[in-house]
Amino acid sequence: MNTTEIFKCKQCGDCCKGFGGTFVTEKEIEKIAARVHTDTQTFVEKYCQISGGKALLAQDKDQYCIFWDGRCSIHPVKPRMCKNWPFLKSVLVDINNWHIMASLCPGIRTDVPDSTIKACVTQELSKNS
Ligand code: SF4
Ligand code: SF4
Repeated sequence: MNTTEIFKCKQCGDCCKGFGGTFVTEKEIEKIAARVHTDTQTFVEKYCQISGGKALLAQDKDQYCIFWDGRCSIHPVKPRMCKNWPFLKSVLVDINNWHIMASLCPGIRTDVPDSTIKACVTQELSKNS
């Protein structure tokens, strides 16, 4: 099965809202900070929240990611977590994560066997590694 058969983005923006936040690595912070013309320290202060010692992209009052503006305003440098969605390692760790994500994302299909979902996620992750 092709990955597009288990996931097709409907461009609704729901994945940019709520859902525990988006982790950013140091390298991603450097890239996004450069994109928004600031230094990394100011970037973390202004655009991130710290959770469990890790930086997450901050959310606006409406719960959307701070970079959501009707679309992703940092698309070319968006974090890996956003680029890979919904083909995330966490799905291989626990298939229930796919179903939790599907409850938030109308583009994700759940009427396929777990083995197919895992195979597709593995395939996508190997492409992106
Ligand atoms: S929630 Fe799913 S369908 Fe909606 S924009 Fe995000 S990935 Fe696409
Ligand atoms: S960085 Fe872009 S794609 Fe990722 S959550 Fe924020 S607005 Fe959405």
